[in-house]
Amino acid sequence: MNEFTKTLCPYCGVGCGLEVSPPAQHGKATNRDSEGTPTWRVRGDKSHPSSQGMVCVKGATIAESLDKNRLHYPMMRDSLDQEFRRVSWNEAFDIITQRMQTLRLNQETDSICMYGSGQFQTEDYYIAQKLLKGCLGTNNFDANSRLCMSSAVSGYIQSFGADGPPCCYDDLELTDCAFLIGTNTAECHPIVFNKLAKYHKKNRHVKMIVVDPRRTPTAEAADLHLAIRPGTDIDLLNGIAHLLMKWNYIDTLFMDECTSNFPAYAEVIRHYSPEVVASRCGISIEDLETAAKYWGKSKSVLSLWSMGVNQSSEGTAKVRTIINLHLMTGQIGKPGAGPFSLTGQPNAMGGREAGGLAHLLPGYRLVKNDQHRAEVEDFWKLKRGQISSVPGLTAWEMITGLETGNVGLLWIAATNPAVSMPDLERTKKALLKSPFTIYQDAYYPTETSAYAHVLLPAAQWGEKTGIMTNSERRVTLCSAFREPPREAKPDWEIFAEVGRRLGFEKEFAFNNSAEVYAEFVQLTRQRPCDMSGLSHEVLQTKGPTQWPHPEKKAQPIFIDAETGVGSFALEAKEKTSSLKDGKRLYTDLRFHTPDGRARFGAYYSKGLAEPPDENYPFVLTTGRLYGHWHTQTRTGRIEKIRQMHPQPFIEIHPRDAATLGILDHQWLEVRSRRGITKFPAKVTKAISPGTVFVPMHWGKLWADDAEANALTHSEACPDSLQPELKACAVQLVPI
Ligand code: SF4
Repeated sequence: MNEFTKTLCPYCGVGCGLEVSPPAQHGKATNRDSEGTPTWRVRGDKSHPSSQGMVCVKGATIAESLDKNRLHYPMMRDSLDQEFRRVSWNEAFDIITQRMQTLRLNQETDSICMYGSGQFQTEDYYIAQKLLKGCLGTNNFDANSRLCMSSAVSGYIQSFGADGPPCCYDDLELTDCAFLIGTNTAECHPIVFNKLAKYHKKNRHVKMIVVDPRRTPTAEAADLHLAIRPGTDIDLLNGIAHLLMKWNYIDTLFMDECTSNFPAYAEVIRHYSPEVVASRCGISIEDLETAAKYWGKSKSVLSLWSMGVNQSSEGTAKVRTIINLHLMTGQIGKPGAGPFSLTGQPNAMGGREAGGLAHLLPGYRLVKNDQHRAEVEDFWKLKRGQISSVPGLTAWEMITGLETGNVGLLWIAATNPAVSMPDLERTKKALLKSPFTIYQDAYYPTETSAYAHVLLPAAQWGEKTGIMTNSERRVTLCSAFREPPREAKPDWEIFAEVGRRLGFEKEFAFNNSAEVYAEFVQLTRQRPCDMSGLSHEVLQTKGPTQWPHPEKKAQPIFIDAETGVGSFALEAKEKTSSLKDGKRLYTDLRFHTPDGRARFGAYYSKGLAEPPDENYPFVLTTGRLYGHWHTQTRTGRIEKIRQMHPQPFIEIHPRDAATLGILDHQWLEVRSRRGITKFPAKVTKAISPGTVFVPMHWGKLWADDAEANALTHSEACPDSLQPELKACAVQLVPI
């Protein structure tokens, strides 16, 4: 028997395959953590098509966090000033269901909210949707993906008529030009970056453009680094479009046959002359022209982005403006080309598929769409009209709902909003007002557990078998390799038990996660994310598989009628015979819009929601470091990573430091309109003048007064409702 269990790294959306074996199998060579305790052995899975055995430091050290600070038993308290007391699961379930029933009887079902996580497996997501949106009839399920990639979701939907990145990792090694904007891929998606950087190094003709106000390790590898001013992304993108148009690098055949709304877009980009754009973005006209030439002259262009684009008050507009460049140059639907959103969390993609945001239903459906609701109601055997047509509260709206008394029960699972939400002091005050908060997590304590009335111990990665989908739409069966500790349970089992106790016995009569997944995939049939041909069994045999994967080879799914999106790059490569005189025949391309055409989005730049001014003269931007993951719930307990990143800091340009008389390592008080923090200065030319950077990983458990989100604000994109966590105005005071 193979001693290794195949699973997936539970940190980021790259989704690297892992193989795990128990400590006992290695005798004297047993891996040990920093305290000498034997740990499970983890190695990259060479057979996983997405990662081919590669892992970064987070994946390599994950086993060290398995047993540290675990929540073992349900706990309760009547008020937040009391100590928790251990209770049985039975007691915890009784209290939760009584609370829910009372709210339902009082016609206050819409005050029940769940805030979930991209750490969920697809089965967890699915059961939560069925419970809240189906059985209870409230759409108040949102996930921390709202803070992460909801702008990518709305951008894809508005431009293509459906969510789902039309690219895959093979494109990284087929492109002639990689255009990276708002992504520090080298640190935040390291294995994607390794592939791209190796290919770029080997192929001298391949260009890499990086757009980022910081000179990150990603920017260091680029042929061209555009250190634009924060908030000027749309200026830059429209400026590149202006030049592509002027120099006739556009693909009129593609635009004529496959797109709509180009005239409105052409009218907008007319106003983005190189002089205007260079001045707004703070870059040279030469650099802008170089970027446009790289794009225009390349046979294939792949754009990559993540939070620098998504976490913005104009996030959807930015995503669509990136997509516009692909549409005007025909850089989509062929190998090495396309707009590729890199997902933050390991299963945020699975969440999108299962309907895990407040405006979605399973199978890439929308709660506002009458037909979509009817399809799901029929499938779940609910009466017509049971699913509300009103999108539920988003993550931030749950916080404001606590302020106004509109949230009667808040169930938080596998996420740590007391560190990761914007405007943190306001968030914490709101959490203190919650009449009843359930906090379900694998770890204790976390910053958020301080705000809970009930703690539910969750099984985590490795202790439950389920599905995750990574950024390239690759679906992996993550097999459990150990039992949950003490009384911890898989998230989906907890939700299902609450459902049964609320009277929905038949709806939640699942014996295992394979049955849950089997039901879920039926709801994806003939949808863009069709996985009806997948099951735990199929994935066990076949290994990680990209969707669409219909049960029967059938309809064109996403873009290309012949290739389908599932193995886009590879199949397209084999399809060279369909290229005529070096040009692609576009007539078989259809998007998911009603007319089958992708839509140009015409946007003028609005800039930052909170631009710098006299009182708050610096733009603060936030981000991640290579070793840490989000709020350090796991990585803060891994010695190697702690040593790598011992403390938070603030990056400041030498010119700004000299003006303010700040020395390297000197402590600064950083003030925004919402909060005050303290960081030691890191004086570096890596950051542009006028901008400062702090990592977002440090909550109260790990450092005093170093919470980046104490400074950030909650202004959000009007379409995606994703807050602008990436930028706010601050003042710096040396101390
Ligand atoms: Fe895990 Fe992401 Fe690192 Fe891969 S790149 S090992 S998925 S953290």
